[in-house]
Amino acid sequence: MSDHTKNTHKLATRAIHVGQEPDPNTGDIVPPIHLTSTFRQSAPGQHRGFEYSRSGNPTRIALEKCLASVERAAAGASFASGSAATAAILGTLAPGDKIIAYGDVYGGTFRMLKHVFTGYGIDPVFTDDTAPESFQRLIDDRTKMIWLESPTNPLLRCLDIPAIGRIAHEAGAVLVVDNTFATPALQLPHELGADYVVHSTTKYIGGHSDVIGGAVTVRDESLMERVAFLQNATGGVPGPFDCYLQHRGIKTLALRMERHCTNAMAIAEHLDNHPKLARVVYPFLPSHPDHDLARRQMCGGGGMVTIVFKETQAALKFCENIRVFALAESLGGIESLVCHPAIMTHASIPKEIREARGVTDSLVRLSVGIEDIDDLKADLDQALAKA
Ligand SMILES: *Cc1c(COP(=O)(O)O)cnc(C)c1O
Repeated sequence: MSDHTKNTHKLATRAIHVGQEPDPNTGDIVPPIHLTSTFRQSAPGQHRGFEYSRSGNPTRIALEKCLASVERAAAGASFASGSAATAAILGTLAPGDKIIAYGDVYGGTFRMLKHVFTGYGIDPVFTDDTAPESFQRLIDDRTKMIWLESPTNPLLRCLDIPAIGRIAHEAGAVLVVDNTFATPALQLPHELGADYVVHSTTKYIGGHSDVIGGAVTVRDESLMERVAFLQNATGGVPGPFDCYLQHRGIKTLALRMERHCTNAMAIAEHLDNHPKLARVVYPFLPSHPDHDLARRQMCGGGGMVTIVFKETQAALKFCENIRVFALAESLGGIESLVCHPAIMTHASIPKEIREARGVTDSLVRLSVGIEDIDDLKADLDQALAKA
């Protein structure tokens, strides 16, 4: 961090300045993208801090500094995807270790726990109850990690990060929070007790649906040692151009999240009590089951709104007729998207498990973008009329 950007600065300032120090030789306001795989040495072993771009690249280091700064973390590491970031954190576990995760985690995280890391002797157990006590009940002396997302996908349940963090720490375990949905603009898990924060920067941090990326940040510098080792040793690193895109995205994160939140709140209120809908789910709506916790833990409700139709057929018709919103997987970009999780993102989860969790065929997830709110409302209204 340069002396013109202090740790006391607020997120919107740090997001724009950290890792973006003007070049001392040219005065570039935006540092160049270091498109190089290797670095010249003046004598064997004598270099300027960079040897080979898997181990370190100036564009990636700049992004990592900025990620750590916006997450209020001791350090950050950048990865080729959210999944590679997840694998690096899970890679810190040893055979015989148990990990407790909230059952409704991102499908790829669930798949990695069940079908990759169990093969290496890691024992994942899942709870479908958001209450901190349900994590407490599963703790034993092999428990080394608790993994959660808040808000969750697509039901937007919020989990009590400080309470679950205390449970983890009393057991000598670490808490990991996937902060992809909230982003550091709305929720700071490290300040709430999380030891690791993981991101799919593909979503809000990149923010423009044009790059796949991931990040890990840590509350305590000592935790970065193993993560950085795994980043280099297993090699799931992003290229310099992808780092540049993510860093460019972070610069407008605060501004974008403000607009995502106001648009999403306006849409949640607009759709609430619609005759074709059984339920509108948004953390900052008073009807949300975790409303008080959400208001305590986050400074905005986020950009995701989930709507549950009374009829499955209506949900499908709605998806076919939406126009400004695009029917597509993923989320967190500036453009509004609609997703039918049961058929699209959550299709790999067996129907009984999916339905028990509330992800029914009549549920539709909206990733509300930053377009004009009147156009978004009009689009939803015309698609609902045809549903
Ligand atoms: C998308 C996503 C991931 C996985 O990230 P990729 O960049 O797709 O590998 C992990 N967690 C959450 C909450 C996500 O939405």
